[in-house]
Amino acid sequence: MNQPAQSVDAHSIMFITQRPELIMVEGQGSWLTDNQGKRYLDFLQGWAVNCLGHGNLGMIEALNAQAKKLINPSPAFYNEPMIRLANLLTANSCFHKVFFANSGAEANEGAIKLARKWGQLNKSGAFEIITFDHSFHGRTIATMSASGKPGWDTMFAPQVAGFPKADLNDLDSVKKQVTDKTVAVMIEPVQGEGGVIPASAEFMQGLRQFTKENNILLIVDEVQAGCGRTGTLFAYQHYGIEPDIMTLGKGIGGGVPLSALMATDAVACFVPGDQGGTYNGNPLMTAVGISVIEQLLAPGFLDAVKAKGQLLRSELLALSEEFSLEGERGEGLLRALILSKDVGGKLVELARDRSPEGLLINSPRPNLLRFMPALNVSDDEIRQMCNMLRELLKQVA
Ligand SMILES: *Cc1c(COP(=O)(O)O)cnc(C)c1O
Repeated sequence: MNQPAQSVDAHSIMFITQRPELIMVEGQGSWLTDNQGKRYLDFLQGWAVNCLGHGNLGMIEALNAQAKKLINPSPAFYNEPMIRLANLLTANSCFHKVFFANSGAEANEGAIKLARKWGQLNKSGAFEIITFDHSFHGRTIATMSASGKPGWDTMFAPQVAGFPKADLNDLDSVKKQVTDKTVAVMIEPVQGEGGVIPASAEFMQGLRQFTKENNILLIVDEVQAGCGRTGTLFAYQHYGIEPDIMTLGKGIGGGVPLSALMATDAVACFVPGDQGGTYNGNPLMTAVGISVIEQLLAPGFLDAVKAKGQLLRSELLALSEEFSLEGERGEGLLRALILSKDVGGKLVELARDRSPEGLLINSPRPNLLRFMPALNVSDDEIRQMCNMLRELLKQVA
């Protein structure tokens, strides 16, 4: 029924990644539709971005209402949605101050600047930020330098200095990197791009205690793991700790470009001139952010995310058993299936190309499949995804 997609004339698009020969035109909930009318069950959701799925009515209404009212008063003035969203975020976290930006990388740049500023004021100019092997913090020059992605140290050399690397879940490896220039440790509570590797409770608690005792800031990069993804509003809340700085992105906008840098009063030391940005706190995006956070905080929503995470986990474990794979891991609705062979890329293609309905999944490592569905995905859709996957696993067995 579905015709093969016609070749796409994208010669004006700068080539930065291999894209399939199809154009996505519509979305509803957990489903995307391409220009040939083929439907796809979407377990990517823009890389854990569309936390409420496609076509969420609350978001659409917020966007429309704000667009009619005021799109851009200028960042030199307060606007209503900016203030309301900031209050919502501080009321539901351990942080007191928020700076809004447009992307995860930009929020992390802000976190790096804030930590360095704090080091200038409080720690004789300490500026080193310990980060982790296989971590991902963004694609600006500084956040690439902070990232522990193999090969990124030389890609656009020279790097920004001052990001020594430690090993996740190994406190001794952190201690080894500490010098009198250390100002902070920056960590993803669950390494997302690195392959969905959660930091253990023992490690996070030990890290918080160690950093506190040594006057070192703890920065959590919750761009991927925050905003309900792991079943709590913020991932640090699983560990019973309070970081000094947190960054949010992806889910906070539910699909629109919005991110946030948050800090405690003790650490929020920017003065005028230190930080800014043309679109910071723009009302169009922050109005959508309010809708997103209010929906995440609605009674029962986060409990349902936990329950769906458990369902996805048990379905993936059943597949692992059936096909003698290496199990699964993750937190909430950020999960990975560990394959026994390097067939992740092949499975991603087979899943997308299957008919009549395609399936969108991702393979951050050759032996791994990652799942980042909408947080309001249905139980049926989770089972449907696993049934599609079962078929595909038979094909590559
Ligand atoms: C995606 C991601 C980023 C970068 O966010 P962008 O919006 O792409 O700049 C940073 N940190 C983590 C943990 C991410 O997953």
